Amino acid sequence: WSSENVAVVTGSNRGIGLEIARQLASHGLTVVLTARNVDAGLETVTSLRHQEGLKVDFHQLDVTDSSSIKEFGCWIKQTFGGLDVLVNNAGVNYNLGSDNSVEFAETVVSTNYHGTKNMIKAMIPLMRPSPQGARIVNVSSRLGRVYGRRNRLANVELRDQLSNLDSLTEELIDRTVSTFIDQTFTDYSISKLAVNAYTRLIAKELWTRQEGEKIYVNSFCPGWVKTAMTGFAGNMPPEDAADTGVWLSLILSEETVTENSLQRDVRLTSE
Ligand code: NDP
Repeated sequence: WSSENVAVVTGSNRGIGLEIARQLASHGLTVVLTARNVDAGLETVTSLRHQEGLKVDFHQLDVTDSSSIKEFGCWIKQTFGGLDVLVNNAGVNYNLGSDNSVEFAETVVSTNYHGTKNMIKAMIPLMRPSPQGARIVNVSSRLGRVYGRRNRLANVELRDQLSNLDSLTEELIDRTVSTFIDQTFTDYSISKLAVNAYTRLIAKELWTRQEGEKIYVNSFCPGWVKTAMTGFAGNMPPEDAADTGVWLSLILSEETVTENSLQRDVRLTSE
C-alpha cells in the first residue's frame, strides 16, 4: 500500500473512525476523512496534517443524505479517479443506559444500515481494480449477532433464513429491519444485524469477481470502546479499537488472513 491508494472513512471526525483514519494514513495511504459537519471535519484534518504530518483530505459526507453521497462520489472520481478502501464507520446509538429504546429507531436504522448499504452501492463502481483487491470494512457490533444471547430474534424461521447465505437476500434483510418492532430486538442491534447480513451477502457477490476486480468485504465489532457513543465508558481506547479495522483494510494475502484470523479470533465474512 502507498500514498497512491485512497481510503475513505465515514464518520471520521471523532471516535473510532478518526483513529482508523489516522492509522491508515500512518501506514502511508492517502485518507479521505469525512464528516457530516464541515467545521468538525476541517478542524480534525488540519490537526492530522499539521501536527502529525499525515496525508489526509476532507470532504463533507452525511450517509443518510443521498445527495451528499452522490456529491461525494463525484468529488472522489474527479479528485482521485476512484478509491481502494472504504471503511463504513459512521453510526449512531441512542440506547445509552437502556437496551430497549426504539424512540430513535428510524435514525438508527437509516444511519447504521441504510447509510452503510447506500455507501457501498455508490462506491462499488468507483473502487479501483488491483491485484490485491479493493476493500470494504463495516464497523459493526456483536450486538447484531443473529444468535446473540441478549438479542434473540423471536422469529426462528427468520433467524434461520438470515443465517443461511443461500436464503439470504437484500429484500429479506430490508423486511427484517422494517418489521423489527414485532421482534424482541432493539433498534441498534437490528441495525447491526442488518449490517452483518448485508456484509455477508455483498461479500459473496464481490468475492466471485474475476482476479484483479475482486472486492473483499468484512465487518467487525470493535469491542466496548471509550467514545461519545458509550458516554466514554468502555474498556478500551479508540486507538486499540481501530486496530482490527485497519488490519482488515490492509491485509494482503489469504495466507495472512488465515494466520491472523486465528490469532485475533475475527471471522472474515469473505472467507
Ligand atoms: P462516536 O459517536 O464517537 O462516532 C460516531 C461517528 O459517526 C461520528 O463521527 C458521527 O458524526 C458519525 N455519524 C453519525 N451519523 C452520521 C451520518 N448520518 N453521516 C455521517 N457520519 C455520521 O462513536 P464510535 O466512534 O464509538 O462509533 C463508531 C462506530 O463503531 C459506529 O458504527 C458504532 O456503532 C460502532 N461501535 C462502537 C462501539 C463502542 O463501544 N463505542 C461498540 C460497537 C460498535 P457527528 O460528530 O456529526 O455526530
